[in-house]
Amino acid sequence: MKRKIIIANWKMNLGFKESKTLSEKILKKLKTRPNFFLRNLKIKKLDIILCPSFTNLSEVSRILKSKSGIFLGAQDCFWEDHGEFTGEISPVWLKNLGCRYVILGHSERRKNLKETNNMVHQKVKAALKAELIPIICIGETLEERRRGIKDYVILDQLSSALTGIDLDLKQKIIIAYEPVWVIGSGRAITPNEAEYMNKIILQRMIDFYPLERVKKNISIIYGGSVSADNVKSFVDLETTDGVLVGGSSLKAAEFVKICQAII
Ligand code: PEP
Repeated sequence: MKRKIIIANWKMNLGFKESKTLSEKILKKLKTRPNFFLRNLKIKKLDIILCPSFTNLSEVSRILKSKSGIFLGAQDCFWEDHGEFTGEISPVWLKNLGCRYVILGHSERRKNLKETNNMVHQKVKAALKAELIPIICIGETLEERRRGIKDYVILDQLSSALTGIDLDLKQKIIIAYEPVWVIGSGRAITPNEAEYMNKIILQRMIDFYPLERVKKNISIIYGGSVSADNVKSFVDLETTDGVLVGGSSLKAAEFVKICQAII
């Protein structure tokens, strides 16, 4: 069985101290019954990924060090390793800092920073080259859904991100389907809707890559108002390998409940 994945996207919500406190609290709560949870993370094959802001990555990395099943992710990276790119962050540096994952193409970046499909494509290539696992966010806006083009939009985002990118045996990617209109709304889509979209994504991945590679190296997850109450209805779906969590990842108790719901 593929490992289940829970990703906490803290966005620009937490400063240095708050990121430190939250990661410490999460770790403490995960270990409430001596070693129960951490041992189970290994056995039950669940990966937890915390994604703080760039400035807080090294501190969270220090806190997570050598805790099995809990990993560090960044919220973005640039598509070049180094050079005259003021303000950008190299994927190689993220890797060196202890990141294993990087979120790419989040809808907030697509909207606020006008990140295009082509930029996301270049970032995916750079992340893979730096041996990071890209978490590629795709999803339709409410307006696109109303116009009846949601399938087209996500297929276009997916194809643009991955066309021409081969995956070797060791490279992994995560596709996060996140309907934009649901993010932060407190109301997730139904599991049936998520299942429908995930099947489309899965089919496109099978068009792109050999079936065995898709099964082993590509995970499809859902994001958008996930909570401790609804998480199980998503991860129980055959096509859903995990969840990307925004708001509900900012409180240790709620986030750990989400993790416990999966175990
Ligand atoms: C997100 O922004 O990726 C997200 C899933 O947010 P929320 O859980 O708050 O909807």
